[in-house]
Amino acid sequence: MWEKESTVTQGASIPLVIEVVSTNWRDDYYKKFADYEEMGIPEYWITDYAALGGRNFIGNPKQPALFVCELVDVLSILSKPFSINGQQIHITVSIGITINDVSDRKNVEQLLQQAQMALSQAKQQGRSQYQFYSPKINAQLQERLSLENELRGAVERGEMVVYYQPLIDLHTRQVTALEALVRWQHPTRGLVSPAQFIPIAENNGLIVPIGEWVLRTACAQNRAWHLAGIKPIRMSVNLSARQFEEPNLVEVVTQVLEETGLPAAYLELEVTESFLMSDIQHSLKILKQLRELGVWIALDDFGTGYSSLNYLKRFPINMLKIDRSFVQDVTSNPDSAAITDAIIALAKSLQLKITAEGVETIEQLEYLQKRGCEEGQGFYFGIPAPAERTTAILKQNSQQMEEVAA
Ligand code: C2E
Ligand code: MG
Ligand code: MG
Repeated sequence: MWEKESTVTQGASIPLVIEVVSTNWRDDYYKKFADYEEMGIPEYWITDYAALGGRNFIGNPKQPALFVCELVDVLSILSKPFSINGQQIHITVSIGITINDVSDRKNVEQLLQQAQMALSQAKQQGRSQYQFYSPKINAQLQERLSLENELRGAVERGEMVVYYQPLIDLHTRQVTALEALVRWQHPTRGLVSPAQFIPIAENNGLIVPIGEWVLRTACAQNRAWHLAGIKPIRMSVNLSARQFEEPNLVEVVTQVLEETGLPAAYLELEVTESFLMSDIQHSLKILKQLRELGVWIALDDFGTGYSSLNYLKRFPINMLKIDRSFVQDVTSNPDSAAITDAIIALAKSLQLKITAEGVETIEQLEYLQKRGCEEGQGFYFGIPAPAERTTAILKQNSQQMEEVAA
C-alpha cells in the first residue's frame, strides 16, 4: 500500500485520527498525549503536525516517503507501558490516516471523516494498527453501519442464539464443561458469526445487553440440564472488556445466578489478559468479587496478549486457555510447541487448570496429552451446537460417566 502512497507529492496533508482504547483514564491519557516530548514522540512529528485538538492531528510532512516509518515508530512508542498517577498502564492505540494532494484540498471536516473511517478499519484489525483511507474501506464501513443498525434490538427480537461447545477431559474423554458462544440468527443474512458482530457490539456498547442475555440464557440452560438429571458441569461464558467496565457487573452475575438457581461453582467467566491489564486495580477488585461469589475465572486466548507474570500471579484466576493459534501448528512449528510447553509449565507452577483451544487433530491431542495438558476444546471433540443437539451429547456423556463409575 505504501508503494502507492509514497508517490504523494511533498506538501500533501495527512490528517490522522489517533484513538486510545482504554478505560476511565482515557481523558488523562489524551492530556498526557499532548505532552509529546515526555512521551518520546520524535521531534519532527511535533513540528510537522499541528494538533487539531484532542486526538486529531493534521500535518504537512516534509518527507512523505518517511511517513510510514515514522508512524510505525510512533505506534511502538505509544504501545509501551505507560504511567499515569503512579499506575502502570498498557494501552491500545489505533491510527486512521487519509492523504490528499494540495491541488485537491478538501475541507478538513471531510478529511477527518475519511481518517475516522480508516480508524474504524484499523481498530478492527487489532492492536496497534494503522490504516489509510480508501474507497474500499468506505464500502466496508457502509456494510458495518448497516450491521450495526440491524443489531439494535436483535436481542429483543429474539434473533440471538447461544451455541455450546464441549470442553473435554483429555484423560477420561468426558465432557467437563461447555463454552457458550453466541450467534446472530439474522432474518436475511442467515447465521452471523460473533467474529463479525461482537467487535461492532463492543464498539457501540450493545455487547452489554447482548452479553447479559448470553449469561442469563447459558446459566438457565445449564440449570435446566442439571434439573433434567444430567451430571452437572461448568458453563463458560465470555466477558467482553465493555462488560467488565460496567459498574454493576458483579451484581448482574449475582442476580443471574439467583434467578436461574445455578450454583456459582458451575459458572466460569472467560476474560482476556489485554483488558485485565488496561486497569489493573479495577481488574483485581472485580475478579476478587467474582471469585468470592464462587464463580470460576478463565484467561481466554492465553499467550496472545501482554503476559505479565507478575500480575498473572496476583489475578485470582483458575484457568488458562492456550490460544488456538499455538495449538493449530503445535506439531509442526517448534515456536508454537515451545510456547505451548511453556504455558502448560506456567499453569502447573501457578497451580492453574489448563485448557487447549482449537484441538482439531489426533496429533495435536496426543502432543497435548504428552505434555500434561488436562483439558481440550476443538472441532476434534465437537463443534459449537445449539442447545437441543448439546442435550443429546450431554446425555450420552452422563451415561458413560455412570458406566465408568459402576
Ligand atoms: P473464543 O472465546 O476464543 O471462542 C473460541 C472460538 O474458537 C469459537 O469461535 C469456536 O467456535 C472456535 N473454535 C473452537 N474450536 C475450534 C477448532 O478446533 N478450530 C477452529 N478453527 N475454531 C475453533 P466463535 O464461536 O466464532 O467465537 C469467536 C469469538 O467471539 C470467541 O472466541 C469470543 O471471543 C467471541 N464470542 C463468542 N460468543 C461471545 C459472547 O457471548 N460474548 C462475548 N463477549 N464474546 C463472544
Ligand atoms: Mg472463549
Ligand atoms: Mg479463545
